Amino acid sequence: MAATALVARFMLEVFVWKIVRAMELITILNHCHHHPGFVYQRDRFGPDKKFIEVRVRPRAGSRAICSGCHQPAPGYDHLPERCFEFIPIWGILVFFLYRMRRVHCHTCGIVVEEVPWGDGKHQLTRAYMLFLARWARRLSWKETAEAFHTSWDKVCDAVEFVVTWGLEHRTLAPIRAIGVDEIQYARGHKYLTLVYQIDQGFTRLLWIGQERTTESFQRFFTLIGTELASQIEFVCSDMWQPYLKVIRQKCSQALHILDRFHIVAKMNEALDDVRA
Ligand SMILES: [Zn+2]
Repeated sequence: MAATALVARFMLEVFVWKIVRAMELITILNHCHHHPGFVYQRDRFGPDKKFIEVRVRPRAGSRAICSGCHQPAPGYDHLPERCFEFIPIWGILVFFLYRMRRVHCHTCGIVVEEVPWGDGKHQLTRAYMLFLARWARRLSWKETAEAFHTSWDKVCDAVEFVVTWGLEHRTLAPIRAIGVDEIQYARGHKYLTLVYQIDQGFTRLLWIGQERTTESFQRFFTLIGTELASQIEFVCSDMWQPYLKVIRQKCSQALHILDRFHIVAKMNEALDDVRA
């Protein structure tokens, strides 16, 4: 049985390799993951056929980019070959091998170059980190690691990379309409304040704050600043007094829409009073 499994695995490896050869991995990479200034030189299987190494070199005449100021800079020397893990192909790991150049930049001094497929000291390529992080939204981190024969730490690293990038590149403006609401969590009276953007065709959670007090909701307006707050045209909330107070202070220009459920409840209360 073990022998049959071994033969089957060998056949599969040969089959996969034939496909990879037929399509030329480098051709695929040039098509899907091309970086001007760099050339995929050659690929080959690792000794145990469990991974493929792709050697990368700078294109002749291309200048290295300084990782400090992101400008081209004259070359200084080369570092030893470094390994970057790319998206696996049919379960076979793919590594880029590249000798990073150091540059002599007049602004930053002698620093290592930046390469388009990698980011700082991350061992995984950007493409692989993005790939893992996308899967980690659908599966647990453990399942993602198992599915792609990688480790939990690498999935965690990938998710952190993507989240950091997202926060650095997040733009809040423009916001025309917001909705504020509270949710209760844990036992007892523990609340969070949630602020959503509810523009037509564009809704997203903008902010979460602890408690449902005036102070906590004010922190949202500190985050967005007075200019953005002054451009808000519609605010939707329930009749919770601290929210009403902050909206009056910070968004006086906006049309304030009160939750219908609360208005009906208040009307019934008033009617009950009259009846009594
Ligand atoms: Zn520089």
